[in-house]
Amino acid sequence: MWLNDTSDLVAALKLRGAQKVALQFPEGLKRQAAAYATALKSAGFDVLVSGDPCYGACDLALDTLALADVLVHFGHAPVDERQNVIFEPSRVDLAPAVLENALPFLHGENVCLVTTIQHVHRIPEMDAFLTSKGITVHVGDGSTRTPYRGQVLGCSFNAAKVPGAGTVLFVGTGLFHAIGIAIATRARVIALDPLTGIAQEVSGDTLLRRRFAVMEKARGAQSVGIIVSTKSGQQRLALAHYLRSLSPRATIITMREVSPDELLNLGFDCYVNTACPRLAYDDQVRFPVPVLSPQEFEIVCGVRTWDDYTIDEIP
Ligand code: SF4
Repeated sequence: MWLNDTSDLVAALKLRGAQKVALQFPEGLKRQAAAYATALKSAGFDVLVSGDPCYGACDLALDTLALADVLVHFGHAPVDERQNVIFEPSRVDLAPAVLENALPFLHGENVCLVTTIQHVHRIPEMDAFLTSKGITVHVGDGSTRTPYRGQVLGCSFNAAKVPGAGTVLFVGTGLFHAIGIAIATRARVIALDPLTGIAQEVSGDTLLRRRFAVMEKARGAQSVGIIVSTKSGQQRLALAHYLRSLSPRATIITMREVSPDELLNLGFDCYVNTACPRLAYDDQVRFPVPVLSPQEFEIVCGVRTWDDYTIDEIP
């Protein structure tokens, strides 16, 4: 069981004078809900658990918070300022020696080190390990969405944008962040999976080819739906208004969950996604029609050139 010592959480809740406490877990941690609820009930709190799907701190259970004094969001760091929300990021430990596997790719260069929230607490040890191997390590500042130095998110690669670091070392699972960093920074990117120990150089070329094909398909669209998320940390209404101004065929659509079935039912020829940027990149094969990023729609509308293509990030 993952259940951490809850004494700090209990103290934080008491400090806020909370009596009714709402708990929210992302999909991978939901099985911890019963254990946390039991522990907090024993400490005297009235506990509610949000059972809705959740994939990030961008999707706070504000409806459930309305029934409680405080919401405890597990698994992620905050992506924006929120009152009455306590964030309990999950930590997954790693042995810094696993970085040995990335050394053959680093060639003693200046390296920018980034990782996800699960491993960000190990940045100092990873930095020390690489430095001991003669590598000059840079750890970039985050952003309002990524409060920790060296932290990246699928919608924010700010910490990877360190001038002078020709190589970015991403430590984390999956390749999406590494590919996003490659497109956002145009630097050489090495991805190291700390669980399997596999290190590899990553390029954005395949994604760019796929996105070019999607844009070509979207050019003939007679109707364009500009998707605006109603989730707390994904709503980009001003961007949607700007995008709508680029085409008389565009209409703003608000949605909570963006699913292939809903897009099919709505019947637009093409969509532009201002919700979680990963939707367009990761899920295009599931969607019935092209789903463009905001920058791709700008290219289709002729207000941005292909040379200025960049990955979508939420500021
Ligand atoms: S918008 Fe997407 S990538 Fe960003 S935090 Fe939310 S789920 Fe993650």
